[in-house]
This record gives sequence, structure tokens and C-alpha cells, in this order.
Amino acid sequence: MTIRTIRSLEVAGRRVFVRVDFNVPLASDGSVADDTRIVATLPTLRYLIEQKARLVVASHLGRPRGKRDPAQSLRAVRERLEKFLRQPVAMAESIVGPEAEAAAKGLGDGQVLLLENLRFDPGEEKNDPEFSRKLASLADVYVNDAFGAAHRAHASTEGITAFVADRAAGFLMEKELSALGKLLQTPEAPFVAILGGAKISGKIEVLQNLLPRVDRLIVGGGMMFTFLRAQGRETGRSLVEDDRVETARAVLDGPDAAKVVLAVDCRVAADVSGSDAGVVVAADAIPKDRAGVDIGPASVDAIAAVLAEARTVVWNGPMGICEVPAYAEGTNAVAREVARATKRGAFTVVGGGDSLAAVHQAGLEHQITHCSTGGGASLEFLGGRTLPGVAALEGEAAARS
Ligand code: ADP
Ligand code: MG
Repeated sequence: MTIRTIRSLEVAGRRVFVRVDFNVPLASDGSVADDTRIVATLPTLRYLIEQKARLVVASHLGRPRGKRDPAQSLRAVRERLEKFLRQPVAMAESIVGPEAEAAAKGLGDGQVLLLENLRFDPGEEKNDPEFSRKLASLADVYVNDAFGAAHRAHASTEGITAFVADRAAGFLMEKELSALGKLLQTPEAPFVAILGGAKISGKIEVLQNLLPRVDRLIVGGGMMFTFLRAQGRETGRSLVEDDRVETARAVLDGPDAAKVVLAVDCRVAADVSGSDAGVVVAADAIPKDRAGVDIGPASVDAIAAVLAEARTVVWNGPMGICEVPAYAEGTNAVAREVARATKRGAFTVVGGGDSLAAVHQAGLEHQITHCSTGGGASLEFLGGRTLPGVAALEGEAAARS
């Protein structure tokens, strides 16, 4: 199956429905608190504008659950978008229906219309065919650049494609699929995965899908303690998922066990608030009354040694409770090591909301080959799932009308 890219589309003078991911955090005054996702899709929007397309841009924001909520309006995004594009952006409050249709029909070449938050309409998350059809009627061509929403089969990501024959992936979608696809299909060896974060449970599919493909799987973060428990070690008051100990044991007893690199030391503290900076202990010497909050320096050295050889690296999940500065050193050190591997020529990918925040905090996002913008979507992709929003772009199926 092939996915067309926007370069192969004839868009001049045509109305293009562009699904983007403008699901940005808003500050308490309603302004855009972080515009990373807006910036990420600008190449697609600018290209379409230059090609004299007429843009109908649509996104969801937050979880308004099918009801209008002024606090989750895309108005603030529109303002930011006007600044980036240096041109006016019209807004269609009604999303679909006569008012939106008139606004879309009124677009001139290179002009932009932003629809209000798609999730204000209950039809979006229900993937309602009627809502999909109405969205499709606003344009002639469909472009999906919302990788971050591609794991949802919603009207604007999936349903709409049944009604538009001409469809393609935007530049961001293309970049994400190419980077993440390379990890699963053509990774150059040695291929190293680093997994951390709070729990195994959210990442089992990623772990199981990556393990046979990688040369080394490094385990840190909260999930390391479930592995330590599976080895029969004392884990004190560390985060352990009792119902995942068997999963960890199966990995440690499985055919790929030799690939697993478990953290060898960790920082432990009396509580996780940060008031106790804690001390570093060996992974087999965690006191009963302490919780593991970060990996230690010996683990960082071991990870650095593995990364020194790596040609391909994927990292998801912080190495400790990195939102607490006293417990962020392991995560920051790994971010530096991944950046170093990139400099040596390795192909490196970081995915996951908290992992990206950590890389951003360390000021290293430009020293990583690819920072994936799609939290849940990248995890599902790496877990081997087919993303509905991606599958819907494939093929040349004839449109219903
Ligand atoms: P991502 O968003 O990058 O996919 P996750 O959401 O899986 O990452 O994990 C991030 C969370 O993991 C953070 O909130 C962090 O506090 C938590 N975490 C990391 N290490 C530990 C630990 N040792 N104990 C408890 N929580 C941890
Ligand atoms: Mg997270």
C-alpha cells in the first residue's frame, strides 16, 4: 500500500481540507502555552499556500466531549497561526453546515479558513458518517498532517476519507511515518531501544514489538523495578506493577533475554516529593523503606557504553521522576548521550510526551534526528499497530459521494 504525499497533489485553486494537530496546551489566560505542534505543521500549510490552494484547516483541542466550550476554543491558535503565516485566518464557528460551507466557498487562492474545535461536535469522536460527509463537502482534496491524532478513528482522521478520492499525507505525517517506519523496517545495527517512564503496562506492546528487532533494550525509569522484582530483588517502596511481574519474568526468561540491559544502580529517597534528594544504591541493595526515583551514575555509564556503538536509537520514557529536579539527572544524562550518538552519526528518535519535555528542558531537541510529535500515536505505531488515520490514507479507493 502506498500513501501519496502532497507534492503529488494538484492543489492550485482547489479547496484542501487539512487535518492538523493543534491540540496545544493553553495557559490560564487562554493563550497558547506551547506552540510546538503549530510550528511542526507550518511546512505543510506554507507549501499549500504557495501552491495557491484554498485551505480549510481543522483540528481538535482538549476533550470538550461533543459540546461547545469557550475554554477549549481554537481562537487562540488562530491568532498564533496568523502571526506565523503573516496573513489573516478566517474562522468557521459552526464547523459544518451552511455557514462553514459559505466560508469555504468564499476562499480565494492561498487563503486560509480555520474550523472551530472539531470535538465541539459529537460526530467527530463517534466517527459519524454524516458529520464526515459534511466535513468532506467543504473541500475537494484531503490532506492529513495530524500524526498525533492518527491512532484515532474519528470523522476528520478516518471517516472523511470515504468521501474524498484525492488524499495525501502532509509533510509532518510523512516525516513521522518515515522516521518511525525506519525503526521497524530498516534499522541499521546496532539498534538500541531505551525504555523508561512510569509503567510497563502502557508499553508492553512497544517492548514486545521492539525486543526481537533491537540488539539491546535498556530498561530504566519506574518500569525497572517490576523487572527487579521479577529477578527476586528487594524493591522497597518503589513503583512495582504486581500484575506485570510475570510479563517482566517472561522477557527475562525469553529468547531475547541477553539483549536486556537493566539499570544497575538507582537513586532512592524516603518519599518522591523531592524534599529528600536521596542517595544512590546498587540495584540489588534497595532499602525496604526507600523508593527508587532515578537511575544512578553506573547505569548512565553502562547506557553510554551501549550507545557508543549504536547506529539506531529509539528512546521512550524518562529514566526517573524527572519532573522533580533532584531526580532528573539520569534522564538528562541519557538525553545528552542520545545527542552524542546523533553527533556520531546514529539515527536517533525520541517519542513520548514526557520524554520530549525532558529533551526540550535539556535544550537538546535539535540534536536528535527525529523528535516524534505524536505521544500515543508513536507508541501505538512502535507497538506494531496499524493507525486508522494512516490506513485511511492508503490506496486509491474511490470516494463515495
Ligand atoms: P512518555 O510520556 O515519554 O511516554 P511516560 O508517561 O511513560 O513517558 O512516563 C513518564 C512518567 O514516568 C513521569 O511522570 C515520571 O515521573 C514517571 N517515572 C519515571 N521514573 C519513575 C520512577 N522511578 N518512579 C515513579 N515514576 C517514575
Ligand atoms: Mg507521558
